[in-house]
This record gives sequence, C-alpha cells and structure tokens, in this order.
Amino acid sequence: MILLLFVIALMVATFLVIGKNGPVSSSEEPPDQETPGVEEPVEPNPQEILREAVREDWEKGFLILVNKEQGLAEEYVPGDLAEIKYYAKDRSPQWRKMRQEAAEAFHALAEKAQEQEMEIVVTTAYRSYDFQSDLYYGYVSSKGQEWADQYSAKPGTSEHQTGLAADCSSPSVGYQLTSAFGETAEGRWLAENAHKFGFIIRYPEGKAEVTGYNYEPWHIRYVGTVSAEQIYTKGITLEEWLDELALEIGEE
Ligand SMILES: [Zn+2]
Repeated sequence: MILLLFVIALMVATFLVIGKNGPVSSSEEPPDQETPGVEEPVEPNPQEILREAVREDWEKGFLILVNKEQGLAEEYVPGDLAEIKYYAKDRSPQWRKMRQEAAEAFHALAEKAQEQEMEIVVTTAYRSYDFQSDLYYGYVSSKGQEWADQYSAKPGTSEHQTGLAADCSSPSVGYQLTSAFGETAEGRWLAENAHKFGFIIRYPEGKAEVTGYNYEPWHIRYVGTVSAEQIYTKGITLEEWLDELALEIGEE
C-alpha cells in the first residue's frame, strides 16, 4: 500500500516536473538583452497555473483516491479533523467532522445556500475504519454479503475515512439519504454549485462502471476548487480526472 502510494506520488511528481520544464525558459536569452532592475512581465500560462494548483492540492492529500479497488490502512486517521457547524441533529455527533479545509469549504457552501433560503446539512462526514467495519459486517449478517457489497463499503474502502467526504441532506427529504434529494431544490443547487467550493458529486448518475457506486446525489467529496471545476466542467469522475493527470492509479 505504502509502496503503491509512493509510486503514485513519484508519477505525479514526474508528470508535474515534465510539464513545468516543457516550454523554453526566457532566462536562456543572452544576458546583454536584460535591463537591470526591470523584470520582463511573465505571461501566465493557464496550463501551468492549473498544474501548480493541482500539485498543491495533491500534496495536501485532497486528491486521494479511495474506491472499491483502492483502500486506506486501518490506522489511517486524518490529522486535522474539524467540527462541522451545519448538521442533521438526529445523527451521531461523533461523525460531524471533516478535514479542516474541507469543513471550512462546507461552511461556505452551506451559508451560500442559506442566502437562497435552502438548508443543506451534513448527516455523516468522517467515519473511522472501525465504524465502517461494524456497519459493513452488520449488513452482511442482517442482509447478506451480496446486499452489503452493493450498498456498503468494505472497511478501509469507504471514502468517508479520508475526512474529505460528506453525506448531505435537507429538511425537504426529512434529512434522509435518498436519491429523491437530487430532485429537490437543495440537491439541484448542490449539483450545480458544489464545485465552486471545491466539492464534487462523487457518484454521479450513469458512472457506476467507473466509480463502483450507483448515483448518490447526497455524497460530496472535497478535491479543491481547481480539480472540482475541471471535473464539473468536463462531466467526469475523480477516477477519470486522475487518469487525465496521467496517474494510472490502480494499474500497478
Ligand atoms: Zn457517503
């Protein structure tokens, strides 16, 4: 697992370095053309700005991929979990946390929705390995292995363990996690605006073959605003975005 992450990190680094050094630098011009004290205005290259921002988010761990093929270690607990202010009050307070930057982004999102008379809250966000284990094996014993595998994640393969995912709901669906949420004003607003705050709808409609999950309009995932914007605009998934970044995750 660690080796895999290392290999991936190395690939990202290589990709970014190659990309960065691609264009010929202006510092290779003859020195006599330079005017002392006056800097040539460097034209910002949008591709380079994007790459740099993605690199920063990658380094902060915001692009971590967790799915049915790729899991987290049992002992993985994010170091910067922060309390979420807007939550469904009938759920366990224990799981109202996200990584600091994601929590702040969610607050900004919820407040923007409030301005438009919509209440979007978190039901559960960060969930520990042990919690997921209890949940999954509870389903296995009550509803059988097949059902559990379809509707729940095996321990270590839930994105909620990253501290970057949250299940959202609203009063209009009784704070439940239901696909009907996607048809509410809140659900539609979330789908159209989450990316502005660095979130994506992680399991969009018609992408189950890629993500391994059916449509979940309530499950958002923080990836940072640059990646979220790209994923939203292109209509792709996190898996496909990472593929575009030439990571080829899961191929090793
Ligand atoms: Zn979820």
